[in-house]
Amino acid sequence: MIGRRNFLKAAGIGVAAGLVSPELALGKTPIVQSAIDKKKSTYEDLYFDVAVVGAGPGGIPAAVAAAREGAKVVLIEEDWAPGGAPVDMFVTFVCGSPRVGIFREMIQQLNAKHDLDGLPDPSFGEAGYNGMTHFWHPTSFIQVIQKMIEAESNLSLMCGAPVVDTIVEKKKGNIEVKGVQVMRNAMLQNIYAKVTIDATGTGLVSAAAGCEFMYGNESKSDFNESVGLEVGDGKVQPCTWMFIAQKIKRDAVFPLDKLKGSSGLADGEKDWLKKDRLEEIHTADKGIYLFWGTTVKCKKTYDNSEVAAAQMLGLKQLEHNIRIINEAGFSVNLAPKIGVRECRRIKGDYVITADDIINGVMPDDKVADAHYSLDAWGMQIPESVKHGPPYGIPYRALTPLKTEGLLTAGRIISGTKIAHSSYRVQPICAVIGEAAGTAAAMAAIQNKRTRDIDLKDLQARLDAKGLFDYTKNRKKK
Ligand SMILES: Cc1cc2nc3c(=O)[nH]c(=O)nc-3n(C[C@H](O)[C@H](O)[C@H](O)COP(=O)(O)OP(=O)(O)OC[C@H]3O[C@@H](n4cnc5c(N)ncnc54)[C@H](O)[C@@H]3O)c2cc1C
Repeated sequence: MIGRRNFLKAAGIGVAAGLVSPELALGKTPIVQSAIDKKKSTYEDLYFDVAVVGAGPGGIPAAVAAAREGAKVVLIEEDWAPGGAPVDMFVTFVCGSPRVGIFREMIQQLNAKHDLDGLPDPSFGEAGYNGMTHFWHPTSFIQVIQKMIEAESNLSLMCGAPVVDTIVEKKKGNIEVKGVQVMRNAMLQNIYAKVTIDATGTGLVSAAAGCEFMYGNESKSDFNESVGLEVGDGKVQPCTWMFIAQKIKRDAVFPLDKLKGSSGLADGEKDWLKKDRLEEIHTADKGIYLFWGTTVKCKKTYDNSEVAAAQMLGLKQLEHNIRIINEAGFSVNLAPKIGVRECRRIKGDYVITADDIINGVMPDDKVADAHYSLDAWGMQIPESVKHGPPYGIPYRALTPLKTEGLLTAGRIISGTKIAHSSYRVQPICAVIGEAAGTAAAMAAIQNKRTRDIDLKDLQARLDAKGLFDYTKNRKKK
């Protein structure tokens, strides 16, 4: 974190709404010393109402929603293209509900222009399901998302800019987040915002600010849960390196029967690829297949070097299947990054528990509907409780403990390991993001603290955007 002294030095130029160049503020570029790097910053400080870090399923709706509320927003992404897991980990398959709001807009565009069968898919369905297992090409996500971002005049996208620190001020043990610091071209740049949203999937921004976080399997008793481990072991869900196999020879037949332990989907298939359906699969001759390639354990998913080592091990495990697929006349396109399912969970004013999900709790401060099974890899959850009813995400799970100026979005919000295994899926990350972006814009524009915004007003705005349609429509049935 950048310390108070250095922050104040930088803050001398004053915080303004929107993008104000330091030349305007001071007449010259300020020099800011960083606690983590002694280099002088030659990039000018930037000022926004809302800074969203991470352009994944949580961050993109957060940024778009904040911009649509009228806030000046920057969306900061370390990769060179927005997208997050669907783009860089090839998680191009969607589980769970609701598919509403900005996420629904994205899926509609994917169905309309990017269906792998080459024809628009009209069967979107009431809740956004088309009733089929289905995926899109990762580059389709980039194209659709980039267009959605470009359409927002209040939104600036900053790619290739890893956030390396959080700008904070500490007041009597409480943390005030003032923005983040990015690394560009081996130089640092300060980006100040009235509200910052951590949508990194790793919780890096919150951790760098000094926020409390949870990691790995807890004990059942830690949060009084009825399912889980008697004694927590701190382990996270395994990583999976996904790939797409594509036909490159005219008469190639997909060698499913020769592959070892890897599951996948052919586009448009209603079921997982199963060896007892070989004839059907060969006749359908889809030509493009998405595979959950290989699974590797990684102890510290917040440590990039350990994740990289896990990925290298994954390549060894994949060698057999890659050779078989290549020999059969298909290319194997490995995702740029191994898929990391679980990292830090930032402790908030409320911690969502497995029992909240099992019992379908709809809290008074609900800002998002959510509906998906408890899908905690490697942990036995009884079938009787695994597939529960819809539940609500409380705003308090987005407000990190003893911290102001910061909201969380996506899979890092405050919940236990088992609760996280349900709300980590993309549609739920997206509605959480849309709620966080709407709340952040309200706080920034109204000059209020994130905890002081009118919750009823926030809920009314989200309702007007259709974010609660999923549970409203279910009640009507
Ligand atoms: C192998 C695997 C299989 C899965 N299967 C499914 C599935 O079938 N269906 C489903 O719906 N969900 C699935 N998921 C879950 C889902 O993909 C993720 O939980 C979801 O993408 C989380 O969204 P997010 O926005 O919170 O984080 P992410 O998708 O991780 O996005 C975070 C973004 O932040 C950026 N970022 C991180 N650190 C920084 C930094 N310091 N500076 C700037 N940018 C930064 C990242 O580059 C990334 O773009 C799966 C996940 C994995 C890994």
